[in-house]
Amino acid sequence: MTANLLRALAAAVGPAHLTDDPDVLAGRSADHTGRYRGRARALVRPGSPAEVAAVLRLCRDTGTHVTVQGGRTSLVAGTVPEHHDVLLSTERLDTLGEVDVTERRVSAGAGVTLAAVHRAAGQAGLIFGVDLTARDTATVGGMASTNAGGLHTVQYGNMGEQVVGLQVALPDGTLLDRHSAVRADNTGYHLPALFIGAEGTLGVITGLDLRLHPRPAQRVTAICGFDELDALVEAARMLRDLDGIAALELIDARVAALTGERLGVPAPVSGAWLLLVELTGDRDQAERLAAMLERMRPCDEPAVGDDTAARQRLWRVREAVAEVLGVFGPPLKFDVSLPLAAVAGFAAAADAAVRRYAPEAFAVIFGHIGEGNLHVNVLRCSAAAEADLYTAVMELIADRGGNVSSEHGVGSRKRAYLSMSRGPADIAAMRAIKTAFDPTGYLNAAVLFD
Ligand SMILES: Cc1cc2nc3c(=O)[nH]c(=O)nc-3n(C[C@H](O)[C@H](O)[C@H](O)COP(=O)(O)OP(=O)(O)OC[C@H]3O[C@@H](n4cnc5c(N)ncnc54)[C@H](O)[C@@H]3O)c2cc1C
Repeated sequence: MTANLLRALAAAVGPAHLTDDPDVLAGRSADHTGRYRGRARALVRPGSPAEVAAVLRLCRDTGTHVTVQGGRTSLVAGTVPEHHDVLLSTERLDTLGEVDVTERRVSAGAGVTLAAVHRAAGQAGLIFGVDLTARDTATVGGMASTNAGGLHTVQYGNMGEQVVGLQVALPDGTLLDRHSAVRADNTGYHLPALFIGAEGTLGVITGLDLRLHPRPAQRVTAICGFDELDALVEAARMLRDLDGIAALELIDARVAALTGERLGVPAPVSGAWLLLVELTGDRDQAERLAAMLERMRPCDEPAVGDDTAARQRLWRVREAVAEVLGVFGPPLKFDVSLPLAAVAGFAAAADAAVRRYAPEAFAVIFGHIGEGNLHVNVLRCSAAAEADLYTAVMELIADRGGNVSSEHGVGSRKRAYLSMSRGPADIAAMRAIKTAFDPTGYLNAAVLFD
């Protein structure tokens, strides 16, 4: 059966775009961190929406599981195949249209990288509202599928808020097009919303129309340090309601110490917890920001950048965090949103859980504090300690009113915990939708549901 299927897939996408090379498949079957891996029978790289639909029809008709892969930067093992799957890569769906400056939008194939969208928007004098440090690899199709957040969610919202049109190859192999030339369109069900955050369980996104934003005339960035996490959270609470707030990023000084030591990017201020703040507006924001920061009593004079080079130096402190996390092997990751009042208590309890279940490991925290979003990364955590520690931390999150996923999605890593954040009727409704679109359950079967 596999030989016949491979021949048919090769005919659908062209022989050069199908491989069953074991080395390629082994590399593609591991997650971004290298902590989780599965097994695949082939990799296909369709070059058009029609080819994606053809691949889906062939796989559905032969009872073959399919796992969709964009940039494979998922941090919840969302692209790890568990059923000897065909891997469907969107990397050749990489056409980026002309920016429509009047309507402030651009059409992109699902495999276009976030960095390419930023470049195109910038060249047209506009900006794209979502940014994350995996920008060179993450694709807009993958980002819509996970409803990605990121560094500017506090200003522009998540990926879903940037999507104004969508093309999707459905599990039955038909193509659904929901594009509209106008801004306001209330015709019928808002079907695109179904595919945002569905993590590829309901169809393969093949193309998107993306909203762009005017570029703010002025931007100022600062980093300030706090001795207590509570004080930083209180500062973030006040700052997040400011007009023009563009970023509010929490950085644990323990991880800044690591970036200083390993990458030569030290914290520019003292304090156990750092807050990166960015303000935008039509006029110079430096004085306004300085006045706000003074009221917050940071433990040191804030480092402020109001020209491009100085701002980039401050952002480098945040960006370096992602680069340094792998220095002790694959980190164990948690992505959670908590009520702001629960953040400091949770951080202390998570540290205690790490000391108890994985004494050789240590936790560092960073995240988008405007949304109460924390990324807890446990470094040097052995595979043996992982199961108990994972359950313990998920319980801490549940006890404090947090969620299973803040922005990374559920993937395969968190599917066992879905009921922590969603009730039985909610899960039943999601399963009914999945069954309506994909009755045999062959598409992204490892993701979302147990
Ligand atoms: C350094 C780093 C920083 C990150 N920072 C952030 C952050 O700030 N905010 C945030 O939200 N996430 C962040 N992430 C996580 C990750 O980048 C996002 O989840 C991103 O949206 C994934 O995009 P991708 O193209 O890599 O998708 P993949 O990892 O390839 O796939 C993600 C999921 O979507 C499915 N999928 C992929 N493409 C499609 C498609 N076209 N149609 C249907 N399903 C599809 C996959 O099957 C999988 O389940 C970060 C990751 C890294 C490594």
